[in-house]
Formats: sequence, structure tokens, C-alpha cells
Amino acid sequence: MDPGDEQEGHAVAHQVTPMDMPGKILELDGISAESVQAHWGLYEAYCNKYNEVMQKLESADRGAANQIYSDYRGLREMLTFAIGGIKNHEVYFNNLSADGGEPSDQLAEQLQKDLGGVDGFLTELKAAGMAARGWAFLAWDWQWMRLDLHIGDAQNTFPVWNASPIIALDVYEHSYIADFSTARPKYIDAFIRNLDWSSVNEVWAGIQRGHELLGADG
Ligand code: FE
Repeated sequence: MDPGDEQEGHAVAHQVTPMDMPGKILELDGISAESVQAHWGLYEAYCNKYNEVMQKLESADRGAANQIYSDYRGLREMLTFAIGGIKNHEVYFNNLSADGGEPSDQLAEQLQKDLGGVDGFLTELKAAGMAARGWAFLAWDWQWMRLDLHIGDAQNTFPVWNASPIIALDVYEHSYIADFSTARPKYIDAFIRNLDWSSVNEVWAGIQRGHELLGADG
């Protein structure tokens, strides 16, 4: 390492590419293709911004890092915002399909145990969707071994460690203003009608396999 080279030792700029748009999300019941396409553009913008921030972080001055203001602080803070914007939207778009379906027996059993069944979960999801300023999530807590709802007021607020999102409900106004004006309850009902349970069941099956691999009981 050349001690005069300030770039040595800095993290490598990881880059992301947007996932392929699932065709199913352009044929939803009550949520228009135009609205979904515009929303997809916002998701792609998060990917682009993540890549831009990661590139800038490579050359940000570590020695000038400061809690009031510094390039490094700004980049690190905005990085979490971009990561949330990417991951939250990927769960959200994968959750959607007009095919509907229902929870697998295994998922229904866990919903019964933790949230009073499918109806109990949906009641909670509607309330969380109305209470949140950005997101409502159904998440599996790997540590406490239970399903619960979490809300987020922005892309990067209120994450819970060791929890994985299974369902992500975007309640930012850009999700529904074009189709429902300010009627968020109607949009939440439409989201629930378009919940792609087969996709959700796959995520849940993956979590169960993960526990088997980890040797956890349950
Ligand atoms: Fe969004």
C-alpha cells in the first residue's frame, strides 16, 4: 500500500441493478398500470441513487467525518435511505398480483398463533397502513420467532434487527393518489385484494428452510 494514496483501504463501491419488472404487476385489480409504471420509475431511481452514493463514498474524506455536517455523514445517511427504497419496493412489487390466492397452511398456522389468524392480520395491516407515513410491514423475527407488524415513516426508519419483511405495503401518496385520490383506505383494500399469496408463501417457505438450516426449533 502506498501511504500517499488516500484511496487505499476504502470500501469497494458495491453496485445494484433493478430487478426485472414482474409482468403481473401491470394487470392489477383497481391499481392501474400507469400508476404502477410511474411507481416503478421511483424504485429504479433508488437503485441509481444507491450506485451514485456508493461511488461518492469511495472518495469521501474519512478524516473530515463530523456529526453536524460532513460529506461522509450525508452519504452514509442517504445510503440507508436508498437501500430502504430499493428493498422495500422489491418486497412490495413482488407482493402484488391479481391472482390473489390464500396463505399456505404453514403460514396460516403462524398467523393464527401470532396475530389471531388471517383476518386478525388483515385488520392489523389496515390499521398499520393507516398509521404509517411510509410503510407497513409484516415481518418475521428470527430471534423472537414470531410474526409482527412494523411501520416505517420513511424508507429507512424503524428497522427491527433480525427481522425479515414478508409483506410490504407502500402508503406513500405516490402509491395511490393517481387511482384513489386521497382515499388511502380504498387503496389498502385494493392492495389486499391484489396480495400475491403464492409469492408470499414462497418467502415464508424460504424462512422455514432457513430455520432448518440454522438448526433452530420452529
Ligand atoms: Fe413507493
